[in-house]
Amino acid sequence: MQKKFEEYAKLLVEVGVNIQKGQNLVISCPVDCAWFARLCTKAAYAAGCREVIISWRDDQLNREWFLHAADDVFDTVPEWKIRFSTDYARAGAAFLHIGGSDPEILKGVDQDRLVRSARSSGRDLEEFRRLQMSNAVPWSIGAIPVPSWAKKVFPDCSEAEAVEKLWNAILTSVRVTGDGKAVQRWKEHLDTLQVRIDKLNALRLESLHYTNSLGTDLTIRLPEDHIWGGGDGVSKAGIHFIANMPTEEIFTAPLRDGIDGVVYASMPLVLKGEVVDKFHFIIKEGKITEIHAQAGEEKLKAETTLDEGASYFGEVALVPYDSPIRNQELLFYNTLFDENAACHLAFGEAYSECIKGGENMTKEELKAHGLNDSITHVDFMVGTADLNITGRTHSGEEIPIFINGNFAL
Ligand code: ZN
Ligand code: ZN
Repeated sequence: MQKKFEEYAKLLVEVGVNIQKGQNLVISCPVDCAWFARLCTKAAYAAGCREVIISWRDDQLNREWFLHAADDVFDTVPEWKIRFSTDYARAGAAFLHIGGSDPEILKGVDQDRLVRSARSSGRDLEEFRRLQMSNAVPWSIGAIPVPSWAKKVFPDCSEAEAVEKLWNAILTSVRVTGDGKAVQRWKEHLDTLQVRIDKLNALRLESLHYTNSLGTDLTIRLPEDHIWGGGDGVSKAGIHFIANMPTEEIFTAPLRDGIDGVVYASMPLVLKGEVVDKFHFIIKEGKITEIHAQAGEEKLKAETTLDEGASYFGEVALVPYDSPIRNQELLFYNTLFDENAACHLAFGEAYSECIKGGENMTKEELKAHGLNDSITHVDFMVGTADLNITGRTHSGEEIPIFINGNFAL
């Protein structure tokens, strides 16, 4: 295992954020997993990193904070916190976020505190969010097991067994086997994604129509100058990086006002420390007009009303049903993995790279091109084994994009 852990840390640092000689690296990591942050730090310095800066997180302390801190602390973000992220980003640092959380850690926390905290972060960290969403800085999200998360995925195992199983599932998902060839495998994977991306971009689709037996019947119009992307991104400084590891998706942005119909989620969604399950949205002219969920409905409603753009959509992503993560037949209760096991959509902010020249556009210009703007961005899964997606070109030609859950292209 030690060899695999080292290979994974190296992969996140050298391929994920693709750290450059003389560049700073900000690592955010659960404090329980300090040993893994140390492996990443070693890998970063070995690659010539100037300085590694660590930002520790702790699920339990975060819960205590939401439960017991004075009420006014949720309405502002202290200046030092804003400057911590924004100053390093402005100076060209890379950001590695190592996820790993109890999916239900914030269950029962006062909804109003969560909403106010999300709003104040959205407002006060806007510059940082923009730098990230426009790929101005290289960033990457990976994950490691924490016991509470592992037990949720493997409830019948002992804690130690569950953690080991989750490790194996994660390492399989990111193509780490311990043979030292993960970097090579990622290169091949990115090439495969690129072939499909090129095909989709050549079609210049006007819209997509989704149907399946869950009841989804949804039409999504795309901006005129939309671009499909996936795999790696390129930062302002020209550095290739991979924002999510694993990543299996090919994505673009929908036209803000161009979605109509009903869409059913195909998997549960972990939203701010609570599980939302069996939900569907009714959407009119891009806006969510109805939300129904069997579990976590209030949470979902709160998230989609964080700001105006939170009830519109920002991402449409295609993932074949027959994919390495889905084929493990696990529910990870973690969006990083679950979104790469199924076609998904996201409500909230769109990525500016999804439109020609978008990285250099202002907020207003992006809006004028039909891209949504919000302080939130939440992916949820809609793909099933019987999902069909039909594309329609501007000349009215219909092209099968997905048949029975998999690419038809
Ligand atoms: Zn996505
Ligand atoms: Zn997304």
